[in-house]
Amino acid sequence: MRKTLYIIGLSIFVFSCTSQKNVKKSTYKPRSPVSQTKTGVGSQNLVKNKADVETEHGVEFFRTNIADITKNDNTASYGSIVSAKPAGYKVVKTHFPAIAQNFRQKYLILHYTVLPDDKSIEVLTQQSVSAHYLVNNLGDNEIYQLVDENKRSYHAGISAWRTDKNLNDTSIGIEIVNLGYKADAAGLKVFEPFSDEQVKKVAALAKDIVIRYNIPATNVLAHSDIAPTRKQDPGPLFPWKKLYDEYQIGMWYDEMAKQNFMSLAEADIATRYNEPSFIFVVQTALQKFGYDILPNGKWDDATKKTVEALQYHFRPQIYNGIVDAETWAILQALNQKYPTK
Ligand SMILES: [Zn+2]
Repeated sequence: MRKTLYIIGLSIFVFSCTSQKNVKKSTYKPRSPVSQTKTGVGSQNLVKNKADVETEHGVEFFRTNIADITKNDNTASYGSIVSAKPAGYKVVKTHFPAIAQNFRQKYLILHYTVLPDDKSIEVLTQQSVSAHYLVNNLGDNEIYQLVDENKRSYHAGISAWRTDKNLNDTSIGIEIVNLGYKADAAGLKVFEPFSDEQVKKVAALAKDIVIRYNIPATNVLAHSDIAPTRKQDPGPLFPWKKLYDEYQIGMWYDEMAKQNFMSLAEADIATRYNEPSFIFVVQTALQKFGYDILPNGKWDDATKKTVEALQYHFRPQIYNGIVDAETWAILQALNQKYPTK
């Protein structure tokens, strides 16, 4: 049904654009409410064919409200509907919802707080950082909402993914209470695990959000993915694979594809690991996948941190920032499965 509506909507849009110059401005207006009682707007009888379109002065008009919010996801509003209240005028929002609209919420970003429960609430509500949701570690069934989904919360900071920047503008942020990591004697970051209750809460919340806003798998990300040189959260112990396998949330590579890339990846690592041309190819693959990195043919600190971010998310067993054969194979498998459009 949505496809039908879109096709009709598109053809009308194209038609009206091309024919607009032949129409006197005064005649170019929708005639919506007239036929409401006849065709039953709000019922199941939506526009299905040409009979539902009428022509006036060479311009086609829908006889019914084609953007019925019960049938068209693009026009459904899941938050509060905020309208102007201009003095002396009435804002009409029932008859003319446009099909050319989408949600501003394009990303879902996961974090950990590096603070215990009480401090997490205090900082995220009283200071200059915030998130839309906070998942506590108290084993109860509550999830705290700190910011309206239609408003910006300050959780991402300087950030980028693929062609987008400053993701606070277009994302929903979830903070998870967790103490982060401590460096061991050898300098390796040792992360604190998440409780099963927290993972279940995050999964249920994330599922609800990605479905409502139609957020693509490629836009469900860690803070470390969108700010790899600054951030590590939610770290390698956050179970991204479990979310993918059990809840169909976010990205994961296909094991078979990874295996297909492995032998070539092993050869690359063994024979040309330090060649600038190979480093450039790896950096370009990281950039293509979505990371904000400028290929320069050097294993520099920014590249190491970006590789570490990739490992936190997709190869959490070893997260040393060094491109080994498996990391390289996984990156290629991800790019094959989730190509940039
Ligand atoms: Zn964060």
